[in-house]
Amino acid sequence: MPCIGRFAPSPTGPLHFGSLLAALASYLDIRSRGGRWILRIEDLDPPREQPGASNAILHTLDAFGLHWDADVVYQSRRLSHYRDALEYLLSQHTAYPCNCSRKQLRSRNVTGYDGHCLQHPPAPGSNCAYRVRHLTSEQQFTDRIQGLRRYQWQGHQGDFMVFRRDGLFAYQLAVVVDDAEQGITEVLRGSDLIDETPHQMELQAQLGYPQPRYAHIPVITNAAGQKLSKQNLAPAISAHERQGLLLRALDLLGQQPPAELADASPDEVLSWATTHWQLATVPAVLSLPADAHPAP
Ligand SMILES: [Zn+2]
Repeated sequence: MPCIGRFAPSPTGPLHFGSLLAALASYLDIRSRGGRWILRIEDLDPPREQPGASNAILHTLDAFGLHWDADVVYQSRRLSHYRDALEYLLSQHTAYPCNCSRKQLRSRNVTGYDGHCLQHPPAPGSNCAYRVRHLTSEQQFTDRIQGLRRYQWQGHQGDFMVFRRDGLFAYQLAVVVDDAEQGITEVLRGSDLIDETPHQMELQAQLGYPQPRYAHIPVITNAAGQKLSKQNLAPAISAHERQGLLLRALDLLGQQPPAELADASPDEVLSWATTHWQLATVPAVLSLPADAHPAP
């Protein structure tokens, strides 16, 4: 069976080193097996998006030689598919309306969810979010990098949002629908998303979709211990530094690029990395010295 993977950035800012690491690892994991690599722009949250960021991301990936197959998929153009999935979940009575505000959840001291809106259904027509119930109280999966993960849900603790009160589809639903439609067999992404996986597996089961394999690479943190992200202003990466950045990324991914590659072109570096890719040597955790900057 051909393997199909994807890189799925949100256009909230230009590509930074942490997202390059995820893109590169996913690309190599797929290309080393001759598979297809798809690019999906997760532009479902307009208030958080930055004008021009989508194009900047595409441009940077291209400049780094991370070329994708097929047309770029934009989630903002796929809302009818998400609506169909939500309607199906409602017809199965696994999705239910919820109008609890964050403040109300906080005041009830809720971890996860407490099932309040199942006992007190919101009035029809009110602006509601939709949550999905977990049909089993235990879940587990084996991550290709992080190993066995187990989850337990007491009551409605694990019930998660698939549609938000502000009228936007939630990440969980869109990702699952898109992964299924694009035939994604391998999900490789940052470990900050690992605890979303059981919710996505629940949706795959309820919607009758196949389940991809999962691999979560460690997330790099800055000197203050925060994840590198557009929100904490991780520096955008520049195509002028691509040679050094690719080698640094390979090194952090445990691939031990040989010293001779220091003088090679970015295409030669990628070609070496594709031939020599070993998922088994990617570390589960990355700890950099406190003062280290991940970029050279
Ligand atoms: Zn509620």
